[in-house]
Amino acid sequence: MQPQINEPAAPERKRIFSAIQPSGMLTLGNYLGALKNWKDMLDDYDCVYSVADLHAITVRQEPAKFRRQVLETFALLMAVGIDTEKGTLFIQSSVPEHAQLAWILACNTQFGELARMTQFKDKSASHADNINAGLFTYPSLQAADILLYNAHLVPIGADQKQHLELSRTIAERFNHFYGPVFTVPEPYIPKMGAKVMSLQDPAKKMSKSDANQNAYIALLDPPEVIVRKLKRAVTDSETEVRCAEGKDGINNLMTIYSCVTGKNLKEIEAEFDGRGYGEFKAAVGEAIAEELRPVQRRFSEYMSDKGALEKIYREQAEKARYTASRTLAKAMKKVGFIR
Ligand code: ATP
Ligand code: MG
Repeated sequence: MQPQINEPAAPERKRIFSAIQPSGMLTLGNYLGALKNWKDMLDDYDCVYSVADLHAITVRQEPAKFRRQVLETFALLMAVGIDTEKGTLFIQSSVPEHAQLAWILACNTQFGELARMTQFKDKSASHADNINAGLFTYPSLQAADILLYNAHLVPIGADQKQHLELSRTIAERFNHFYGPVFTVPEPYIPKMGAKVMSLQDPAKKMSKSDANQNAYIALLDPPEVIVRKLKRAVTDSETEVRCAEGKDGINNLMTIYSCVTGKNLKEIEAEFDGRGYGEFKAAVGEAIAEELRPVQRRFSEYMSDKGALEKIYREQAEKARYTASRTLAKAMKKVGFIR
């Protein structure tokens, strides 16, 4: 029998939960800011990772394209090194307990709490024609994601702090009213993790749902596309490669170069001393392409055998459901539902 995730081999290992939306092709920002850490954390924690497809439909998705995106995101996560033997990686909608618990938690979330979420305000501004109830109650579903697995830790970027705080409030409120069911999750700030900015507007973060494709590097961009996007990256009117205030574009490219080569900023300044932006951008493009080459190769391998891929995501969903269904049953019993 497969080891079940709510009985970790080493019980002292803390559980981590994290998810990513299949709302577009994963970017270099996702990779350097989140996925590399996801991979490293597999060695020290009991990791539960999810492709958050339920969350992704808060924004309109074209069905055929969406289906492909979910599958590709799953394969790409495996290709960056999320080893399903070491942790759990599942597609959120394959575990119906998420939607079920989300309803119970929505009934324990206040309107005022949801109305304060900055992501709701931002996304309702950028999708003014589709401000749906799901976009509003998104944090209740996110709380369900985390609480179903009794995760101790949730790695978060600055953009997710407010949501995790609300998940904690919901967990505490439920436990207080109905009795202890949920572990109250703590934020986890990974040791390393860069914030990658847009190549076209370095004041904005790189985002997979950006309408301008030149703003991001998709993990599946072919090498020549990567080099071309880098060539077009917005910098400034100087010529010297150095890290400084007001040089957002160059700072961003130096951060990226540093992350993929392991060189520090001083070393990078020395390497490009007197060589100008053109040469620097070409080097950054090539370094990124080099870093992504093995990821792309593994991705193609996974995608070339859909049967094997399906077997993996089915098994992983079952593994996740084992824990999720127990937590849901406990919560439903506390609420007073007849089982
Ligand atoms: P969307 O535009 O649909 O919100 P996204 O690119 O912001 O997509 P998410 O699915 O919201 O991606 O986030 C997935 C993970 O990637 C989160 O942990 C988030 O903090 C991280 N992340 C996203 N963009 C960046 C970035 N530019 N730099 C570093 N980390 C990032
Ligand atoms: Mg986001």
